[in-house]
Amino acid sequence: MKPTKAYSASSATSLLAPDTIQRREPTERDVAIDILYCGICHSDLHTVRDEWASVMPTTYPCVPGHEIVGRVTKVGAAVTGFKEGDLVGVGCLVDSDHSCGSCAKNVEQFCPNAAFTYNSPDAHLGGVTYGGYSERIVVDERFVLRIPSNLDPAGAAPLLCAGITTYSPIKRWGNLEGKKVGVVGLGGLGHMGVKFAKAFGAHVVVFTTSPGKADDARRLGADDVIVSTDPEQMAAQAWTFDFILDTVSADHDLNAYLRLLGLDGEITLVGAPENPMAVSAFALLFGRKRISGSLIGGIAETQEMLDFCGEHGIIADVEVIPIQLLNEAYERMLRSDVKYRFSIDMASLKGESR
Ligand code: NAP
Ligand code: ZN
Repeated sequence: MKPTKAYSASSATSLLAPDTIQRREPTERDVAIDILYCGICHSDLHTVRDEWASVMPTTYPCVPGHEIVGRVTKVGAAVTGFKEGDLVGVGCLVDSDHSCGSCAKNVEQFCPNAAFTYNSPDAHLGGVTYGGYSERIVVDERFVLRIPSNLDPAGAAPLLCAGITTYSPIKRWGNLEGKKVGVVGLGGLGHMGVKFAKAFGAHVVVFTTSPGKADDARRLGADDVIVSTDPEQMAAQAWTFDFILDTVSADHDLNAYLRLLGLDGEITLVGAPENPMAVSAFALLFGRKRISGSLIGGIAETQEMLDFCGEHGIIADVEVIPIQLLNEAYERMLRSDVKYRFSIDMASLKGESR
């Protein structure tokens, strides 16, 4: 066991604070990783504050972080895919049973025995898994990803969650060439959604509650920007969309977006607000419209997404922060003041004494 510096929350109402956790010694199949950068996902905040208590209650202390990029420091004897010094990533998953139907279909995120990177039962040490707001992590090689060498590691870290979560539904939708695609919410997920939808040839429209983000939206690849709080701008888009990706983290009116879909149009939710949402049956009936959801992506698809990003030079737009600014970053995230993902420079943790 190796004592490891981390930041944890000790309750739903406490700030994140310095802590020391234990990491296991690498077993045969494990890869030990020194963490260089870890993105801050809104799911970290939902979990820390136990906002998903009805589905996935939080066990404390909670060390979040599932957008991890780091260097391999040690590998177990049976590891074949990685060696010391490799630049690697770890996303939201660290284990699954490899025997269920979901694992057979490479969608390990739906395995009934999947272990998430934090707040899941830890099969090795007991207690729960601890995430990337820490110096190092030890992960089964089957859940370690290769980071293309041309990608900046700070900007690559958010690909491990925000990247795959938007890439997967956008890719699955089908050929987007020339289709009209909406992305609701320009935060961490949303800005990656814009980049991927554009890369797949769509006409991309961003819906934002923050008019000040319009120029950035266009720079990121949007063809048009709609301020969603303006009823006139919204009404002008009625019945025009093929596909809408909803990345919003808080309560909002889904019916307003259903009205914008055309015949057989689909809205996919990736945002995970705390409260259930009301849907008007009529908003679905007229136009045979569909609502669907999507959860991250499997390991093979995550590697495919990373390779795609390597080929196209796609990374997240990040504001790199020291870990000491974590609580401030959470408050800014709640104010939709993220441009467009915080990436923690883990070197800032190394100097801290406990
Ligand atoms: P984020 O960076 O905070 O972005 C969310 C954006 O939603 C904000 O920037 C804001 O964009 C918009 N928004 C916030 N409050 C709103 C409100 N009340 N009404 C309308 N729009 C609002 O969060 P994120 O990290 O991208 O995560 C987004 C959501 O996806 C979270 O719920 C997170 O837990 C979830 N998530 C799901 C998965 C999955 O696998 N399905 C994976 C990761 C994250 P504007 O300023 O442009 O309006
Ligand atoms: Zn996430």
